[in-house]
Amino acid sequence: MFTADLLRRLRNDLPMSVTISALGREGPPSKMRDGRFVFLCPQCNEMLVVVNPRNNLAHCFACERNFNNIDLLVALDFDFRSAVALLEDLLREYLSRRSKRSTTEVK
Ligand SMILES: [Zn+2]
Repeated sequence: MFTADLLRRLRNDLPMSVTISALGREGPPSKMRDGRFVFLCPQCNEMLVVVNPRNNLAHCFACERNFNNIDLLVALDFDFRSAVALLEDLLREYLSRRSKRSTTEVK
C-alpha cells in the first residue's frame, strides 16, 4: 500500500521537468518556452502542456487536461504501481542530489 503522504510528496516535491528528463525517450518531448517548461500532451499530442512551478501541476491548453507526476506516467501507459515505484526512486535521487548541492537551505 502507498500512503497518502508518499503520494502527496510524489506529486509536489519532484519537479515534473525532472521526471520528464529522467524518462528520456520513454517520456514526452519537452522544451523551455518563455522560461516555462512545456511538454507534449500524451492525450492530444499538442506541445501545449505547461507546468506551473508554484504547484508542480501541468495543464494542457489544447485539451484542458491536468497532469501531476502520477497522472503523467499513467497517461504514458505505466500502471499505477510502477508509476509510484519509479517516482519514488526519482524523488529519492532528486532529494539526495539537492542536499549535496546546498546543505544550508532551510524551510
Ligand atoms: Zn492535451
